[in-house]
This record gives sequence, structure tokens and C-alpha cells, in this order.
Amino acid sequence: MRLSWQDLGKPRADKADGKPVEITGFPLTSLPSGRTGHFLMMAEPGCCQGCVPNNPLAVVEVFADRPLERGRGALRLSGTWRVSFDGEGWRYQLHGASVKPGMTRRALMAASPLFCLPVPAMAQAADGTAVDVHSHAGNIIQMSFGRGQALDIASPMSRGGVSAICLAVVSDSPIITTSGGRLRPGRDPRPGELYSFSQSSFSALHKLARDQDLPIIRTAAELRAARSSRPSVIVSSEGADFLEGRIERLDEAHQRWALRHLQLTHYRPNELGDIQTEPSIHGGLTAFGAEVIRRCNQMGIVVDVAHGPYELVKKAAAATSKPLVLSHTSLSDRQTPWTRQITSNHARAIAATGGVIGIWPIPAYFPNIVSYAMDGFARMVDVAGIDHVGLGTDQMGLPGGSTMPSYADLPQLAAALRTRFNADETAKLLGGNYRRVFEVSIG
Ligand SMILES: [Zn+2]
Ligand SMILES: [Zn+2]
Repeated sequence: MRLSWQDLGKPRADKADGKPVEITGFPLTSLPSGRTGHFLMMAEPGCCQGCVPNNPLAVVEVFADRPLERGRGALRLSGTWRVSFDGEGWRYQLHGASVKPGMTRRALMAASPLFCLPVPAMAQAADGTAVDVHSHAGNIIQMSFGRGQALDIASPMSRGGVSAICLAVVSDSPIITTSGGRLRPGRDPRPGELYSFSQSSFSALHKLARDQDLPIIRTAAELRAARSSRPSVIVSSEGADFLEGRIERLDEAHQRWALRHLQLTHYRPNELGDIQTEPSIHGGLTAFGAEVIRRCNQMGIVVDVAHGPYELVKKAAAATSKPLVLSHTSLSDRQTPWTRQITSNHARAIAATGGVIGIWPIPAYFPNIVSYAMDGFARMVDVAGIDHVGLGTDQMGLPGGSTMPSYADLPQLAAALRTRFNADETAKLLGGNYRRVFEVSIG
């Protein structure tokens, strides 16, 4: 029998216990893609891992005899339905799951975003100069904690035409927890804690780059020369919490770790300013935040205001002498509380500095690559202009999975963009605009 998500929590789903069923849904992924025999599935692409366990009736736990490919949109699965009535764990399980050939039209849209695009567009898609302005590729978040293996970065970048990525350590992660379905600071950091965590994170990042033969970019000339045939890394930090209010640590990170891209705030209102996901305590940017921006301008570090509220962006725009980057977001003029999306005015404030806004491949906003291109990139271009939009994948930083989980999929995005933009415009969106900002900022 075929089960729909509306059946879950109803007698029809309970009566199917022990029977062969078929169901179509979206795997919830914490890894960008890959094969696995055990995962969770939901009705819609997941937006946040933290909110899933709150509703055990909205999730199916999948067990496959042989590993299944997942992370590329919807899967239509068949298997044996099991219902657990003990209230522990997930209520619904699919055992012996296998992928059914043939999909619903909607599932096909999500899983094969290019079925309607002309093939020649693919061929001219990537010119090997793309830059991702925000990434945690290679499993750098887990590696910062001394956990998890390094995953291959270079080969998917080469295949997809990505020349460089801003690879970010996450400076406040030891104190961030999930609460009420959103990421929040769970406690105050101990003195020195976030500094020493960041030192080991930067060290893990350098090891990853060394082990995978990824050159670390230190100068504008090095980014100018970077091509996907030998992909490079720009050392970045998501959150300047490691400074702990001490400006001299910025110079240290610039010299010791080749830090060239700094996001001021993350999930903790810190010494530099406020964040979008907590109430304002600083009225936007602090005096120390403005001092850090000026020092970044002098030393040659790109300033990233992602996660900062509009008030912070306006003050940062007044403080900076270089363009601002807002590395991962998307546009919404109908804002929900604590959203990470931005309004048109917020976007225009970035554009007015000559900067770049990176577009996020969040499946809940953009269920497939065509939507990522049209509802994500093109809408932002309409508001901010063709010179002020870029690629911000947040790869391996998205708990609910990604619409573009691998850099090898970049030609699909380029092809989707080419249905609306010419080749020069597409090249700007996929890297040219960030290259311009980097050039001006780093010198
Ligand atoms: Zn982020
Ligand atoms: Zn991130």
C-alpha cells in the first residue's frame, strides 16, 4: 500500500504495521550527501535538525539492507512498515527499504532539478573561477572538536569548477545548543575558552588544507590566480568570539593562521555586536565591533556581517572603508521572528558598500536547484543588483541538509542561472563579485 504523510498519526498508518508500503519523502541529512543504510525521512526538506525530534509523528526512521544514496532531494522508498507503540524513539520505521524507480512529478522536480534544462547550457556552465563565500566543507566543524574524519574537498571542487572556498571555523560552537528548535547560546563561555577552541580549530583547518594539498590564499594575487584545477582555501571564522575583546588577537590570527575573512557575530551576542536570533543588547554594533572593522580594513581581512541584524549592518556600513560581505542568507520581506533571512533594505545596505550577499541553499526555502537559482539568486539580484550577489553554501553547516550538497553540482546551478543571466553575469554571481571584494579588501 502507498502511505502519504497525512496518514501518519492516523489509524491507516497504524494498521499498516508489518505490511509492505511505499512512501516518498526527504532524507534529513547532516552530511552533504552520500550512501547510508540508516537515516530519518520527513515530508518536506528539513530546515533544522533541532526541531525534528519534537514531533515523532512527522518522522520515519529508515533502515535499508543495502546503503541508499541520499541527500539529493526526495526519495520514493518501499519496505516493511513497523509501528512502535511504546512511546520511545520514533513511532514509524521502514525496514528493508529500497528505492522505487519512478517518482511523483513533485518528487522528480526536487530530485532532478535539471530535467527541464537544455543540455548545452550545462556545458558552458562553469569556467573554473567560482568562489564559495561561506563553507564548512571537509567536516571542519567536527574536526575542530577532534571528532570525525576529514572528507574530500578538492575533487568535488575541481569537478564543479570551484576555485576557492571561504572555509570557516565556528568560534562560538562550544557553547551553542539547540533550544526550542533554534540554535542559541547555552551558557556564558569561560575566560579563554573560545580563544583556545579557535586555536585548535584553525590548526585543524590548516591540517585539512595541508593533507588535501589545498593552497591557503593570503593575497589578492593568489585569489586572482586560483582555478578549480587546483582548488584553494580562504581561512575564515564564523564569529569573532575568539578575540574575547582583545584587538591584538586579530593581528595574531591574520599572521599565524592567515585569517582573511571574518564574520563578526554568530549565535552568541558577543563583544562586537548583536545577532538576528537573539534580542538586541548592544543596539547593533559595539565600539569594539567598529574598531575590529577598521583594523580588518587596514590589515586586509574581508568583513562579513552574516547573522548580524539590520542595525548592526547599518553601523558596520558607516564604520567600514571597504565593501561588506553578508555571506549566507536569502531575501524575505515577510519576516518571521528570529529569522536569518534579510529584508530588501538590509540587502541594499550591503550593496551600497559595494559588497556581496551570499545566497544560502536551504531546502525549506529552495527545494531544488532551479528554485535556488530563481527564487534565491535572481530575486536577490532584482533587489541588490547583479554586482552584489554571490554563492554562500554553508556546506556541512546546515543541519537540515542542502539543496546543493556537493560542489560537483555547481554546473547544475550555473545552468539554471544561465536561463536568466548571460555568461558574464553568471560568472559574477558564482565568484566574480567576491573576487572583486577580496581584491579591494586584501590589496
Ligand atoms: Zn551561519
Ligand atoms: Zn556557517
